[in-house]
Amino acid sequence: MEVQWILLCHGLVTLLVLVSFLCGQWPIFEGTPIQRINHFLTFGAYDYFQRFVGFVFGAKGTNAISSVEYFCCDRPNPILQIIYLAIVGGTYFLVANSSFGYIPGYYIGEIHRYTSLLAVGVGVLLFLLTCFSDPGTVKADNVSLYLSAYPYDNIIYSEKECSTCKIPKPARSKHCSICDRCVARFDHHCGWMNNCIGERNTQYFMAFLLWHTLLCIYGTVAIGLILAGQIKEFKVIDILTVYYGIENSFRSLSPHVVQWLLGAYNTQILLMVFLAIVSLSLAGFFGYHAKLCLTNTTTNETFKWQEYVNWQRKLNEARASSAALKASISGMSSERKPPENKWRAIFRRSPLKDVEVVVTNNIYDKGFFQNILEIIMPLSRRQLSLRTKSKSG
Ligand SMILES: [Zn+2]
Ligand SMILES: [Zn+2]
Repeated sequence: MEVQWILLCHGLVTLLVLVSFLCGQWPIFEGTPIQRINHFLTFGAYDYFQRFVGFVFGAKGTNAISSVEYFCCDRPNPILQIIYLAIVGGTYFLVANSSFGYIPGYYIGEIHRYTSLLAVGVGVLLFLLTCFSDPGTVKADNVSLYLSAYPYDNIIYSEKECSTCKIPKPARSKHCSICDRCVARFDHHCGWMNNCIGERNTQYFMAFLLWHTLLCIYGTVAIGLILAGQIKEFKVIDILTVYYGIENSFRSLSPHVVQWLLGAYNTQILLMVFLAIVSLSLAGFFGYHAKLCLTNTTTNETFKWQEYVNWQRKLNEARASSAALKASISGMSSERKPPENKWRAIFRRSPLKDVEVVVTNNIYDKGFFQNILEIIMPLSRRQLSLRTKSKSG
């Protein structure tokens, strides 16, 4: 039974770390240990490490860290691409090595030996496609295409020139400091892909996320079916109920079955837990990006809208305080409002709600189907085909 407790603790700790890392900055977690863990993971741990190296090795150590940081985070490099391939290859090898011997099983057919390889192959293909596709680089010779595809909304985008590329900056584009180029409909620079995610490769990126979510679910379910088949083939339930006299109910049988599985198939159980956790986090990431795609917003724009909301809020506060000043000067009523409920204040400060209000101003949001179509068939490509048609016509 001890192994079960270790596994339970392991699962709970992993969940806590994952939730803290992904959601720790949400207003609802303000002042809670989850926010502190988030701060430690995203900032504190690295800061302590830097100070430790500085303390032990002096300036030489901190300089070495800075140059490694510059190479790893500020310049294009394939480190995370190699790690991705190692994780996928390693996981597939472990699954094949530990579990293919049980295929075909009672609940799983021989075909899964081949479909699993095919599924991993498609995943790697989508990865390579996202890595090596053009995200929509804006250059002097194609800038007019992007300028006509994306009009300025004069809220978060107004006419500007890229100070590095010295060309007009189309709306929704951004200069990626890592790749040193302007990218149309810039979403973010993805370290795993060693590429920007922009107008022309968002569809591959989304397909990559969806496929890998499904791939991990497939792996989890397939291993689950193998183990279920083993329980059936070894007649574990019959042995437990008939020979050991255990009551034939899920509640009384499951601890014994789990114990048997942990003893005989611990590699498969660990792989299942790993794949389930990865599929959950990938599903969350895919859901976040799908929501952005459906509202025709980019990750970069969510930050811009946030800045806009903050600016608007400051403006409103300034207006309110100047109005209050005027009112008090002219000796008008200075009735005090009751203090706001703390919990209500926490929810009121939710940045997401503010963004949702402002995103109604998003002129690029043209409705569900049009937004999806824009991801599949980028606007600049349509502009290009329109121009070639009008030239030939
Ligand atoms: Zn630029
Ligand atoms: Zn980039």
